[in-house]
Amino acid sequence: MFNNLTVKQIAVLIAAVISAINALLLIIWLLLTGAFTSILSVLVLIVISFGFTYIIVSLLLSTFVFQKLKMIYKIISKKKSKSKQDFSLATSNLTEVNDEVIKWAQDREEEIIELKNLENYRRNFVGNISHELKTPIFSIQGYLHTLLDGGLHDDNINEKYVKRAASNVERLQNIVEDLEVINQLESGNADFMMTNFDIGKLTLELFEDLKFRAKENKISLSTNFNPNTPVIVYADKDRIRQVLDNLITNSLKYGKLKGKTIVSFHNLEENVLVEISDNGIGIGKKHLNHLFDRFYRVDSSRSRAIGGSGLGLSIVKHIIEAHHQTINVKSTTGEGSTFDFLLPKKDTKLKVESK
Ligand code: ADP
Repeated sequence: MFNNLTVKQIAVLIAAVISAINALLLIIWLLLTGAFTSILSVLVLIVISFGFTYIIVSLLLSTFVFQKLKMIYKIISKKKSKSKQDFSLATSNLTEVNDEVIKWAQDREEEIIELKNLENYRRNFVGNISHELKTPIFSIQGYLHTLLDGGLHDDNINEKYVKRAASNVERLQNIVEDLEVINQLESGNADFMMTNFDIGKLTLELFEDLKFRAKENKISLSTNFNPNTPVIVYADKDRIRQVLDNLITNSLKYGKLKGKTIVSFHNLEENVLVEISDNGIGIGKKHLNHLFDRFYRVDSSRSRAIGGSGLGLSIVKHIIEAHHQTINVKSTTGEGSTFDFLLPKKDTKLKVESK
């Protein structure tokens, strides 16, 4: 009940209580000593006592409570961008001050948790990067030293080791390129050029680029759409190319010999559902929740052996989320995987890109 009072009101209340006790004691004393003359003189004494007590209580509260509260309030207000008002002896009530201090403490706690999470994230990220870079660097170092130590003149290994060193350099390049993309997407500095374009045509172009890789494992690349009927979506074409490239490439990397990869589009009311399915090795249930985390791999040695950076799906997720959509995956070990996401249909106010 007293919490809703201002400091000034509390001073008045304390002064009133003390004055009332004083008055009572005074009246009893006057009556007992027979010195009671008139009620007026008692009233004057009560008023004087009240005034005196009020001044002392106010001074005490002001010095020991108000000044300290004001200081706390000042610190809080300085840290808060939208501070309500200054602390005032006459108008600030203690509940408000209390609420504000609690709110401030909660905000600070959340801020500290967020900073700790960011620090953890930074530490993990740096740890992951150095771990990823270390493996190819050590391999390159090993091959080069063996060549320098005489291997260069050994026809049994010289060409093989140079090729292996080169493939590790390629792996380093992939990691650095993917890191650059992730960094750009996470820092929010990535520009998204939204246009209307034919995602069917884009898929066929990618099939053309990936056909040699598909041939290596005898994997067939097919679609569910008629190439003569455009499938126009409104999105960033280059980024969606990267998404399709990563997903189709994964279907080849983790596909079975003589397997198949199908890219299909489903016409929904406002969106196009894009699906990339394969009948490859599949992904166990327990991995699905982490699949889009940076550097997460189901089978690390297989991924590294085929030059994976572990960042491909993380990039896919960032790009799809930047389009305000989500990427989903369904997969069964040994049977295959399907990744899908939505893209908005063409923006009728804009022209369709012709290239
Ligand atoms: P990576 O560079 O290792 O391929 P990604 O982020 O693209 O990294 O994929 C993360 C992991 O998810 C891969 O290491 C692989 O284990 C698994 N994965 C991704 N796509 C598929 C797929 N189509 N089939 C089976 N496993 C997959």
